[in-house]
Amino acid sequence: MSYRLPATVVPLRYEIRLEPDLKTGTFAGEETVTVTVRQPMEEILLNAADLTIDRVSATDAEGRALDGAATLEPEAERARLRFPAALAPGEWRLTLGFEGTLNDQLHGFYRSTWKDASGATHVMAATQFEAVDARRAFPCWDEPAFKAVFAVTLVVPEGYTAVANTRVVGERPLGAGRRAVAFADTIRMSTYLVAFFVGELEATELVMVGPTPIRIWCVPGKRHLARFGQEAAAFSLRFFEEYYGIPYPGDKLDLLGIPDFASGAMENLGAITFRETALLVDETAASHNELERVADVVAHEVAHMWFGDLATMAWWNGIWLNEAFATFMEMLAVHAWKPQWDRWVTFAVSRAAALGVDGLRASRPIEFPVEAPRDCEAMFDLLTYEKGASVLRMLEQYLGPDVFRAGVRLYLRRHAYANAETTDLWRALGDAAGQPIPTVMDGWVFRPGYPVVRVEPAPGGLRLSQRRFTYLDGEAPGHQRWQVPVRLRATAGGQTVERGVLLGGAEIDVALPGPIDRVVANAGGHGFYRVRYAPELRDRLLAAPSELAPIERFDVVSDLLALCQAGLLPAVEYLELTARFRDETDRNVWTVLAASFGYVNRVIDDAARSGLAALVRDRFRPAAARLGWDPRPGESELQRQLRGDLLRVLGTIGDDPDVRAAARTRYARYRTDETALDPNLVPAVVATLAAGGGEAEYAEFLERFRRARTPQEEQRYLYALAGFRRPELLRQTLDRTLNGEIRSQDAPFVVRSLLASVYGRALAWEFVKAHWQTMSRLYPPSAYRRLYEGVTALVSPKWEEEAHAFFAQNRIELGGKTLEQYLEQLRVGVRFQEREASALSAYLRRS
Ligand SMILES: [Zn+2]
Repeated sequence: MSYRLPATVVPLRYEIRLEPDLKTGTFAGEETVTVTVRQPMEEILLNAADLTIDRVSATDAEGRALDGAATLEPEAERARLRFPAALAPGEWRLTLGFEGTLNDQLHGFYRSTWKDASGATHVMAATQFEAVDARRAFPCWDEPAFKAVFAVTLVVPEGYTAVANTRVVGERPLGAGRRAVAFADTIRMSTYLVAFFVGELEATELVMVGPTPIRIWCVPGKRHLARFGQEAAAFSLRFFEEYYGIPYPGDKLDLLGIPDFASGAMENLGAITFRETALLVDETAASHNELERVADVVAHEVAHMWFGDLATMAWWNGIWLNEAFATFMEMLAVHAWKPQWDRWVTFAVSRAAALGVDGLRASRPIEFPVEAPRDCEAMFDLLTYEKGASVLRMLEQYLGPDVFRAGVRLYLRRHAYANAETTDLWRALGDAAGQPIPTVMDGWVFRPGYPVVRVEPAPGGLRLSQRRFTYLDGEAPGHQRWQVPVRLRATAGGQTVERGVLLGGAEIDVALPGPIDRVVANAGGHGFYRVRYAPELRDRLLAAPSELAPIERFDVVSDLLALCQAGLLPAVEYLELTARFRDETDRNVWTVLAASFGYVNRVIDDAARSGLAALVRDRFRPAAARLGWDPRPGESELQRQLRGDLLRVLGTIGDDPDVRAAARTRYARYRTDETALDPNLVPAVVATLAAGGGEAEYAEFLERFRRARTPQEEQRYLYALAGFRRPELLRQTLDRTLNGEIRSQDAPFVVRSLLASVYGRALAWEFVKAHWQTMSRLYPPSAYRRLYEGVTALVSPKWEEEAHAFFAQNRIELGGKTLEQYLEQLRVGVRFQEREASALSAYLRRS
């Protein structure tokens, strides 16, 4: 079956009038779509889902009208409009009357609820259309290439606010406590970017950036949490106007915090939506990580106003053109806004996550053909966002930032108000660079995986060679090669040289000015590849890690861990090597070290856990002791966050009795005086108390979750409920994922985090097996899929077998290669366990 609509009828302009009834959860709509009919047609095909269409008529330019009828094709999510005579080529106005439901599935036109201070429940109506859910709100040509102008009118009760993509151009009372709010025409844009909202909403004051007013909307009582997000939006808007050299394409910029929201945020032109944690924050009470998240997501969405909204991928296969760019641009903007945050260094963590998925045999290319539009929903993953952005960063560094920016500007100017393909991007970047781009880039975008670059001494210098890296094969056999822009920094013969080498074939020799002292083969850390050093070269690097930049140290540890997971380095040797990082000062390096201990924890048996905890204390304590518990004057924000990170690891996986005791004392003081604890330490203290806690702590955190004053606080206490160790408490948390206490936008992630916990996984797995059908009904589909990522932590042959049987018997499909990837990650874990568990146990018992 073909999913694409024929281009014989093309929409130009939609006038849409919608009247939602928040009480009954339904809406009534009417639309007039101006279309161009290109050949005589008795039938018009467009998209509609979960709608009834009760009136159809077509009027030509002379005012002659024809009544028609609609037949719905629910399976194909289409409506077929039939007319008694053929519509002649030319311009027609189609008028349709329709009705639909405000669903609870967090897509299409849906209901979100919130409670006020008195506990009363309020309802708002919101939209989420990407990828293919505009068709649930109004019949339309729901494909990104059918760009059109949208003029929306919302009929709302008095006291309710209406927000849409553009400014309000008229309001008219209709009697009976209703009024019609009309919005200005949008630019020519795709249906998935249309958005409208009705609710009791509060807004901030306007902040102007040039002619553009910026405002944040939220449910009443949260406006005081909007300042930081609004500043981030204003900075980003200014930054991107300058970077792209094109004015903002909308007539205003609203950012809305929605209480129920399936993803992180959505780039509707002029009306960006967010889950509350990604927009609303109390700067004085938030940790660095929580602030960074808001800055990131806001910058990302604002970047989309050009990349995605102004110039749009022609079809869903090109989603990376939107998402990889927005992710890359988010880093650029946040780095420009807060250089002291070292955002590009922290990006290494995201790059490593993408290397993790792309190191699977079941990886996929960043871009691949998409037939059914639903298939693209599995594309909203690490490979599209993080691998895509990493590859762009590598290209930017290879071409130089100015040339790269010139290419981006050219691309946007050529495709503004229109659509584009990846080849269009290569053409624009190539024109700016004066060199063909596809030869360098195609291997990274259109083929899965990445290379491991081996670095070995060779006569007169070095030999670099490449093979595909996968966790199951190590250095995989086969002939897949990449054009790898290797950045080398070598100290040899008393000189330090830095140079770029394009490794295009299987191997290449690089001459150096004398005997090699040290060599870094991913200098600057931007390359999307792993490095495997010959043992003597590796040992020289690790003899003095502080001579490497933080991002390079991160890459060294991350690569060693991957080599170890792939069977190319014994796990015990890896654990020994981590001792070289006791003096580490960068929080990203500590993040990857902590993650590696977490990985080992999943693999070992219970008897070895105390040995692992002792090893964690040995590695983390010196750094934690250097920082102490109390912030010092003049300290950077990153140091404060690092303190929190280190104490959190010690208090949880490190089972550190001193940290546990101090956390108890500090928390008691925090309860009476919140200024007594640095905001970066609060998450660490809460997680520590949960790890060592019982009934009393559980009751306390549950209460705090219920009464949370900020979205961040709500998240912190919610996830703490998954951080306990006693089964009877974890069972309570599991029950709360289904009984409505935890919002459906969060519940799947709580289940995932219980599956990932060595204390919760057995219980959580039984729970999922018993309740997955209920979960699939209650949770928004995009989040429900992510829940199953938790099975990667079920590291034992028995669980692995059960997982395969479970997915097969219940015919659970997660879209694309997602399920295959989860199961392969589990396989990698079980193989690692089979290979390493006994050596690890013996080693850890001695620790
Ligand atoms: Zn995005």
